[in-house]
Amino acid sequence: MREPITNRGDIRNELFETVRCFCACESDCAESVVFTHIRSGKNIFFVSVGDKKYKYEYALCPYEDRLEYVRYDLYTCKSALYCALSEYFGRKMPWGSLTGIRPTRVAARLLERGVPHEDIAARLCSDYFVSRDKAELTARIISVQNRTVGDRMSVVSGGGQYPPNNLVNLYVHIPFCPTRCAYCSFVSEGIEKKTWLLSPYAEALCREIRRTKAIIAEQNKKIFSVYIGGGTPTVLPPELLRSVLEAAYCEDAEYTCEAGRPDTIDEEKLRVMYQSGVNRISVNPQTLHDKTLQAIGRAHSSACFFEAYNIAARFGFVKNVDLIAGLEGETEDDFASSLCGVLALSPENITVHTLCLKRGSRNALCETEQNSHTEKMVNYSAGALSSSGYEPYYLYRQKQMTANLENIGWCKPNFLCVNNVTVMEETLPVYACGAGAISKLTLSGGRILRFANAKDVILYLREFEERIAKKELFYTTNC
Ligand code: SF4
Repeated sequence: MREPITNRGDIRNELFETVRCFCACESDCAESVVFTHIRSGKNIFFVSVGDKKYKYEYALCPYEDRLEYVRYDLYTCKSALYCALSEYFGRKMPWGSLTGIRPTRVAARLLERGVPHEDIAARLCSDYFVSRDKAELTARIISVQNRTVGDRMSVVSGGGQYPPNNLVNLYVHIPFCPTRCAYCSFVSEGIEKKTWLLSPYAEALCREIRRTKAIIAEQNKKIFSVYIGGGTPTVLPPELLRSVLEAAYCEDAEYTCEAGRPDTIDEEKLRVMYQSGVNRISVNPQTLHDKTLQAIGRAHSSACFFEAYNIAARFGFVKNVDLIAGLEGETEDDFASSLCGVLALSPENITVHTLCLKRGSRNALCETEQNSHTEKMVNYSAGALSSSGYEPYYLYRQKQMTANLENIGWCKPNFLCVNNVTVMEETLPVYACGAGAISKLTLSGGRILRFANAKDVILYLREFEERIAKKELFYTTNC
């Protein structure tokens, strides 16, 4: 796989993402791609792939606004490159020319420009070459989000416009896991040699949470949702877990705690979560096949998942269960039986992820071939979940996803997780605490400002005062 040769070096990375969609591994794409953009009364694109040459023309940008100009420029460049590659390889991608942007964001912009909801799917197909299925899925998601999230925001913010400008989300990061999954490149450290860090980390984190909440209160803002993520928050022993959960608790806010690794939860920790006000948890088997669990480095069995899930169900949490389509060695039947086993539990939320070959993960290092069954697995899940009464409510895509697919959160009606929607759609600011946590402020025009805490836990602790002071300045000067 090669970077394109181009006179548009300013968008080389974006162009490379499009090339990467067609060339999953190096052997797919030994040919060079040359992309030339000329503006001469219109936008003219010359694209050569190997010995084939293509030419496309688009009108000049009809918008005067700078941000719209940049979007249109990127849209035409990626469209031209996508068409050339699609022609050359004789293949279409499920999400067409959409890379590096959430399809729901594109659909929301179309709605803002006055395109009627019933035309959204058709516009995604015609303008971005999205497949009919995916375009309809996106339109469905937008309609579920609009139906639910605006109402909830209005209630929490005390009425007013959507999205209200006095709401924020609070995110708390616990960067430890019991073992490292083969496909993971999140900010997370294996726990075995780091147990001594848990107590000082939790203590510093609680201080950061309290200071962050104080700033939120000073700014006259309200916390819409709290999300404790990781890593695996439930790797903390009960007393430390309680201190963090109590520090982050906010009355009225949706309160989620990831309990992703079933081997880290037991009745005592679930009681701590319940008593600390958590109302949603995520228990994630990823697959119900023990052989795969072992192969991907997770230290639990499917029996362990069922046990943890059933205890969680007794406490009355709203439960999410994650599955991954495309795990190495799994057949379509394997995936279908995992989904069937999860559906039998009837959790309020099910999230279907597509295996993502991330840089830094062990899988990526050994150049895994794309799993040709993954698309069928994802399509199967959409049919099975829809016919079991679930609605798709959020969707996101990452770089290097198997078969260029997506992750989709499904929910039973009225059980959507507002944190997932507002974080993915970047509708609300995120005030984030913990090592590696990234705070985000949304400015007018949709521009996002970010502030990242130190990733390394020891650095986070060592430079705590200095960095937190900088973060507080970030919140106060940009609001
Ligand atoms: S549980 Fe999640 S964060 Fe932890 S190692 Fe596995 S994928 Fe990474």
